[in-house]
Amino acid sequence: MRKVIETASPAETFAFGENLGRDAKPGTVIALLGDLGVGKTVLTQGIAAGLGITEPVVSPTFTILQVYEEGRLPFYHYDVYRIGDPEEMEEVGYEDCFYGEGVCIVEWADLIGELLPEDTIRITIEKDPERGFDYRRITVES
Ligand code: ADP
Ligand code: MG
Repeated sequence: MRKVIETASPAETFAFGENLGRDAKPGTVIALLGDLGVGKTVLTQGIAAGLGITEPVVSPTFTILQVYEEGRLPFYHYDVYRIGDPEEMEEVGYEDCFYGEGVCIVEWADLIGELLPEDTIRITIEKDPERGFDYRRITVES
């Protein structure tokens, strides 16, 4: 399945994430792709809100993984931007998350592509300068 959504503000991207979070099933893994500043973290914050997480969600850039237990399902937020080698993922025990009962989001997932489960949902966020500063095209592939 391939679906394209367009948003015109951070709030719209957040709201789209909220819907994903509300519908997410145990074991969902989402790969978030797109350049720096496109809105991967904004979308992640929406998903967290949709899962019922109220504590602030920030990018776990220096820890690779941040876990939130307070929502409807455990939520694992990875940002692998600074990962040097996919083997660093072993150290954070990614298998429990990728093949567990929670919801996993991986920002910069292409850097650890080989480790992602086969049924990973791919979400790509892109800008289009011709459509304005706050325009985003969000492509969901599952
Ligand atoms: P990333 O995690 O991809 O590096 P962030 O989510 O941290 O990006 O930042 C995205 C930035 O883009 C934020 O400053 C946000 O306010 C801005 N922005 C502008 N328009 C949008 C939009 N339509 N959707 C998401 N973010 C947007
Ligand atoms: Mg980010």
